[in-house]
Amino acid sequence: MTTDFPSVALPDGERIPKLGQGTWEMGERQTQRAADIAALRTGIELGMTLIDTAEMYGDGATESLLGEALAGLRDDVFLVSKVYPHNGSRRGVQAACEQSLKRLRTDRLDLYLLHWRGSVPLEETVAGFEALRRAGKIRHWGVSNFDTDDMEELVGIAGGEHCATNQILYNVARRGPEFDLLPWLADRSMPAMAYSPIDHARLPKRSPLDDIAEARGVSVFQVALAWTLRQPGVFAIPKSGRVEHVRDNRRALDLRLTESECAQIDAHFRPPRSKRPLEML
Ligand code: NAP
Repeated sequence: MTTDFPSVALPDGERIPKLGQGTWEMGERQTQRAADIAALRTGIELGMTLIDTAEMYGDGATESLLGEALAGLRDDVFLVSKVYPHNGSRRGVQAACEQSLKRLRTDRLDLYLLHWRGSVPLEETVAGFEALRRAGKIRHWGVSNFDTDDMEELVGIAGGEHCATNQILYNVARRGPEFDLLPWLADRSMPAMAYSPIDHARLPKRSPLDDIAEARGVSVFQVALAWTLRQPGVFAIPKSGRVEHVRDNRRALDLRLTESECAQIDAHFRPPRSKRPLEML
């Protein structure tokens, strides 16, 4: 990782980039393939070296595209993939990981996540992750779409304390985790990985984000991303298949919102005053 790029610490102290790149919907259209690869490579050059993918995306096509995009660059990135819940048994996790490694053309993942909670007992999944860790196939493991009660249950089982992160839907329009989940994670020095940090480009048509963007000479998406990134224990993985958007996203990391701008945002996108169940896309 470039040393001057902003970072967050995993529970074991390893530092990872505060801003990475998502890949959902990449590799699904042949005509977009070259643009996706160019965008990913630009992001890596700019220091956004944490890359998130999943076996689910494009039924493996996204991991395959990434394998191509990362040729010669594997050691420069922190590579994250996710396992389907139905592959969450001890053996299933290990078999799914082997398939992901093959598609990604690598011998290890830096982080492997359970995509969401399914019907397989968590003990099984954790045992599979721990076996993969001992075998050097993954360096860290974590979860995704886990609400606070799921996290409590997870850390209560053998090995559960090794969870490195929880990847959750968090952005200016989805602030539920601020009530209990983000504080729970912060108490355990576990950073939250914010997915859809610009709400899958579905932000409201008109909001204070527009006024701030206009006054600052930036885009609404940059304001929304800067807002997501403003918290110390949060890192984010916006997806873009366009070089110019990737550059904009990198610049959002340097955009510091003022207290008054944050107050304008709070007045429209209200912080939670009670528990809201964790949303997912
Ligand atoms: P997102 O990153 O919030 O938004 C992506 C959309 O915004 C794309 O349509 C992209 O279009 C556009 N965009 C990106 N940067 C932009 C910019 N600077 N200006 C204008 N438009 C911009 O949504 P996401 O893809 O849902 O989430 C990000 C990543 O999180 C995913 O790719 C995936 O890796 C992960 N994720 C995980 C889960 C889970 O269940 N764990 C769920 C959803 C997502 P262009 O490509 O045209 O730029």
